[in-house]
Amino acid sequence: MQVHPRILLAGEWVDGAGPESLDLNPARPSEVVARVRTAGDQEIDAAVAAARRAWPAWAAMPIQERAAILARAAAYLDASAETFGEELTREEGKTRAEGIGEVRRAAEILRFFASEGYTPNGEVYPSPRAGEQIQVVRRPVGVVGVITPWNFPIAIPAWKIAPALVYGNAVVWKPASLVPVLAYRLAEALVNAGLPAGVLSLLYAKGSAAQALVEHAGVDAVTFTGSTPVGRQLAARCGELLKPLQAELGGKNAAVVLAGADLELAADQVVLGAMRSTGQKCTATSRLIVEEAVADPFLELLRARVDRLQVGDPLEPGVDMGPAASADARQSILDQIAAAVRQGAVPVTGGEPYRDGLLGEGYFVPPTVLALPDVTPALWREEVFGPVLAVVRAESAQHALHLANDTEFGLSGAIFTNDLDAVMAAIDHFEVGVLHVNSETAGADPHVPFGGIKQSGLGPKEQGRAAREFFTHSKTVYLRP
Ligand code: NAP
Repeated sequence: MQVHPRILLAGEWVDGAGPESLDLNPARPSEVVARVRTAGDQEIDAAVAAARRAWPAWAAMPIQERAAILARAAAYLDASAETFGEELTREEGKTRAEGIGEVRRAAEILRFFASEGYTPNGEVYPSPRAGEQIQVVRRPVGVVGVITPWNFPIAIPAWKIAPALVYGNAVVWKPASLVPVLAYRLAEALVNAGLPAGVLSLLYAKGSAAQALVEHAGVDAVTFTGSTPVGRQLAARCGELLKPLQAELGGKNAAVVLAGADLELAADQVVLGAMRSTGQKCTATSRLIVEEAVADPFLELLRARVDRLQVGDPLEPGVDMGPAASADARQSILDQIAAAVRQGAVPVTGGEPYRDGLLGEGYFVPPTVLALPDVTPALWREEVFGPVLAVVRAESAQHALHLANDTEFGLSGAIFTNDLDAVMAAIDHFEVGVLHVNSETAGADPHVPFGGIKQSGLGPKEQGRAAREFFTHSKTVYLRP
């Protein structure tokens, strides 16, 4: 059944004045999941104006009342998780179980930030002067521009919008063009839960609209998740405007497997990290560094597991991996595989596009593991954002860590080992924002900080109490009666 998502502007659901955009099922692109009328420039201005009008009353509302709205929205998402999860699968392509899981995760994120309504809001410091108290209080930032990617169409927006709202900000949100339906579902959940008009606007629009949000004098701060090149552009402009930016960007995440590790466990986890969600996670495992002493048996375990993956329509039971999210994404993944092979990579498994018609019209790509001759192929450095794992062999644990850090990115990493010294070295020296010991590179719980270093992120981390850093500013108050 087709959904008709509308933009949310000043509390009203309306069709945008911009051109129509089609939302297609990547497993069956002849199926139109939704038709969307995008927002025009005037609607961006109107959304920012509505947010500015709504913000003072919203910021003045007791935080517990704002939190109660998030909690009601969470209950709505939980109650509809199966329906919305299937819609997510239809428009984005991850499996049905992952789609439902993501909707439930969005609900959990809303609940976590609702609980923030009951935590301390600042600190009290001792004063060197008698009769004085020094307080540091947190105040909302104002109107926040939110720009989100397609690969987690509801969880990532939730982990930006929930803290923005609970800490008293108004939001103007531009989701990714590929996933309007789940954006609509999150906004619908919040509106139905009692969010006042204008506090959240949702604008379907092309990337240029995101630039307009960054430029807009009525937008006080911008939170962006997406690719590093776009993040770099936005950071340059925000830098000129001295506008706070939180940017969560790309990754080239490594899993390190050392001699002595539980190889069966490591193989299970590496396959999950590399192939789940068709490898379209910022935290997906895209490089495998395996110590020479265990490389042959480990690659055999890995190959066997990858070959067992069922690729197909992600709504079907038993399917492990759906399609790439778009025709462009599929082409880009296949091009990067072909380039790596030209540069000397040898397929351990996969590598060849599916024969025409084998899996129907969908944007499917084969799960692929490529052994690199060395670290010169572009596949070692460039984010693929697909089910492609590049493998190199390391001479030692130390060499493996050196190879893991041989990247401009620093989002997540994993190390598989039973050697405590190697674990301690990884904690100290693995250049990532999120480290997993004996588990896959992906994973982000709502109550702990998430984000990358190096070219993977800029500004305060997301989630957990770290989110408060970005969505509020501190005010130091010298208080005398
Ligand atoms: P993207 O192309 O950078 O787009 C992200 C968002 O920015 C979308 O809303 C997009 O709109 C908009 N946009 C595109 N071009 C723009 C421009 N020139 N100026 C301003 N905004 C622009 O990224 P994506 O393909 O959606 O997502 C995949 C990328 O996100 C990967 O690199 C992945 O690693 C990264 N990611 C990072 C994290 C993290 O937490 N670190 C999490 C998830 C994804 P349109 O959709 O209309 O183009």
